[in-house]
Amino acid sequence: MGRRCLGCGALLQSDDPGRAGYVPPEKTETAQLCQRCFRIKHYGDFKSVSVEDFPFDEISKSVDLVCFIVDAVDIEGSWLVDRFEDVEKIWLVVNKTDLLPFSKEELSRWVVEEIGWTRKFFLISARKGWGLKSFWDEMMFALSGKRIAFMGATNVGKSSLLSRLLGDTDITVSPWPGTTIDVVERSLSDGTVFLDTPGIVPEGRLYGILCPNCQKKVIPSKKLSGKVFLLTQGRSLMLGGLVILSVEQGSVLVKPFISYEVPLHRTNKLRIYEILKEGVGDWLAPPCKGCLKKVEEMGWEEKVFVMEAGKDIAVSGIGWISFFKGEGKVSVMVPKGVRITVRRSIRR
Ligand code: GDP
Repeated sequence: MGRRCLGCGALLQSDDPGRAGYVPPEKTETAQLCQRCFRIKHYGDFKSVSVEDFPFDEISKSVDLVCFIVDAVDIEGSWLVDRFEDVEKIWLVVNKTDLLPFSKEELSRWVVEEIGWTRKFFLISARKGWGLKSFWDEMMFALSGKRIAFMGATNVGKSSLLSRLLGDTDITVSPWPGTTIDVVERSLSDGTVFLDTPGIVPEGRLYGILCPNCQKKVIPSKKLSGKVFLLTQGRSLMLGGLVILSVEQGSVLVKPFISYEVPLHRTNKLRIYEILKEGVGDWLAPPCKGCLKKVEEMGWEEKVFVMEAGKDIAVSGIGWISFFKGEGKVSVMVPKGVRITVRRSIRR
């Protein structure tokens, strides 16, 4: 069997620069990383940094406050807060709440009780402007004239938030020396300094392995609502051709909260492999044919859970499936390495 890239897990190959895992022919024998991962890691894309390379503590030690932004649709996937030594300095900012069909009270209670976050947090929407005024006022009241870093995974809306907050203020921008990554300082006239840091590329986020076109379909752009499905023993629900939930024992009523552009298909578990071969990339997409090939190279992974009403299975980078009624043993198939979390539902 061929070797795999240590960065993204793709099979290393020198045939097609457009496909995952490409390394130039002269590096075939020696490369540990594919060309794309090598570029991200060593020089190319300074707007993002892998989790292992991100200097969480170096930055947090140099500031008075860290505003850590997470994606409301993928809290587990964008939750990198445990990596900080100095958690006292963190304000948690949950962005994209406009995509959730829950009240502020429901979400607040869930953040405290299920995530266990008892420190300061804000529920906002950078897109709609929700919660930004109280966030800004509180920050300026407590930390005017101090140094504040904005951090978070890629695609959580860090740039959208910063440009909305700082967009029309009097800002000077300068690169901040002292770390190897590209931190940019923005200063207000009252002496407050904002550090805009590169996005962190989290591990195990499903859309990270997809092409830009499939990513566009998988990342939700409208409020999620969810459609109810009854699944009895031996039945499966396919979320596109990317996540497959099957009931091994019992029967359950589930509601997937995912982008409208990911089609849902209920079938017999026995038919899954046939559909993966013939339907996915065709009438069941995403993934497109190219992304499916990539997924097949990486391989599938199946995990089994005992589920009951009031719990969710969250799959990082696509959404979650809420269990409403019934109970049972279920299996979830995802591309290898994608993060799956079982959690208490936001709405009880
Ligand atoms: P960054 O990589 O963390 O800087 O994220 P960006 O600011 O580039 O945003 C990533 C994507 O999320 C873009 O498509 C934004 O339009 C979208 N986005 C950002 N904030 C929000 C929000 O509050 N709600 C919704 N629905 N989308 C958002």
